[in-house]
Amino acid sequence: MVTIRGGGELLLVLLKKRPCAYCGTVSIPHTKGHVIPQALYPVSLPQARRITVPECTDCKALWEDAEPHFRNIMIAIWDPDQIVKDNRYLSMQRSLLQCDGPRRLQDFLDRLVSVDTHTGKRQMLYPAKDPWCNLILRRIVRSLCHFHGFGTAIADSRVRCDVMLWSVPEAFQPEFTWHEIAPGFFRYGYARVGDDCLHSFWLIRFSQHIEFFGAIEAAATRAIGEQLSPSMGAEAHRKR
Ligand SMILES: [Zn+2]
Repeated sequence: MVTIRGGGELLLVLLKKRPCAYCGTVSIPHTKGHVIPQALYPVSLPQARRITVPECTDCKALWEDAEPHFRNIMIAIWDPDQIVKDNRYLSMQRSLLQCDGPRRLQDFLDRLVSVDTHTGKRQMLYPAKDPWCNLILRRIVRSLCHFHGFGTAIADSRVRCDVMLWSVPEAFQPEFTWHEIAPGFFRYGYARVGDDCLHSFWLIRFSQHIEFFGAIEAAATRAIGEQLSPSMGAEAHRKR
């Protein structure tokens, strides 16, 4: 193992020269942005991979306030049968005791929807309809796009995320490439489409059951490093 004196400074210099994954700037100081919010990692998975991308401080500020809210919502729905009682729940509890805790609690309570079910009334949460949660979902898709070299600075307006309510048709399943951070924690898959309508299609799954899709529209003006995949586009057309 080689230790570089001043390694932290060297890393900072290298990060400054890399474009921000979200806006492409190289002129604003960068940090390492976590693709999956750190607060969602359970202490039981210390070795689970932390994927990071360069993130400028301006972009970071856009979702800094939304991240704790996203964590609160995701932890609340992580296990439909019981409350998650690990470090994530404790950090959620701690955050509610901070000075902005009452606001965060109110933000959470405002998202609860009372629904009649065959077992009686239940409180439901709809993360994809929540603007803050959806912002984080779109950010995850954009950062994975950068991470896999499919495009840097993909505009937020090109990404649509929602709950995945249907199964991928069997004919399309071979198009997907899957990555798993840890079983039952987080996995994602993507299909490069590259036709006139769609750049790529993403599936991201938290826990065992919380699955969202992310669709990145094609654009007249491509993002940095964005490559189309004509062969896959033609293949997709043939399968329609
Ligand atoms: Zn940026």
